[in-house]
Amino acid sequence: MKFEELLDCLENQHPSFVRAWEKHARSEEIDKVAKYIVEANDLQIKSKLLRVFRNRIFPEGIENILTFLDLDEYDISLNSVEVLKHFNDMRIRYKAIELLNSKANWYDYIPLLSKNFKQNDYELLNNLISKGIYDEFEWHSIQLSLNELFSLHSNENTPQLYLKLLNNNHCTICRRQMFKYMWRDGCLTPDIIESAKLDGNDETRVMVKTFEENANYNS
Ligand SMILES: [Zn+2]
Repeated sequence: MKFEELLDCLENQHPSFVRAWEKHARSEEIDKVAKYIVEANDLQIKSKLLRVFRNRIFPEGIENILTFLDLDEYDISLNSVEVLKHFNDMRIRYKAIELLNSKANWYDYIPLLSKNFKQNDYELLNNLISKGIYDEFEWHSIQLSLNELFSLHSNENTPQLYLKLLNNNHCTICRRQMFKYMWRDGCLTPDIIESAKLDGNDETRVMVKTFEENANYNS
């Protein structure tokens, strides 16, 4: 399907349709999408089209997309995060720090640091978490954003961040993932190992026993 045909039917399609289209589109059609995002005015359509670039590099300049981050429309702002997280660019870092410090849903902007990370960012994120009160859904969103960052950048210096997540996020799948990062970063202590042995997730209990047998944690 050509980009023009996609555009014609976009209004009535589920957002996932764009992702399905993207997988089969020729590169010249993808380039047309990028040009449209830069040049056209309709923000709703642009927001849907940004999904084309979740897993591929946006081939035009990112100046426009940076401005979408500030918009109050949740969809276009967060779809822009997914596009920009693939770029190493100081403008993205500056914007990320600004939004982390100003937005109520600051944790949704953590992925902007993926390729623009500095070591003391974990300390910044730990401080930001301390400033708020979150419900269980927000804790899970915080955890999901951080899991992605942990997978890319080790965290040896701010183990408190891991502890906060352990104490507040109740998703056992995320917890299991996080134990792996804590193991990698030398942040597992005998106390944490002991409580993890009682975790509701079978695989976590087996996994921490393996960690213990290797006995490479801080004591
Ligand atoms: Zn989870």
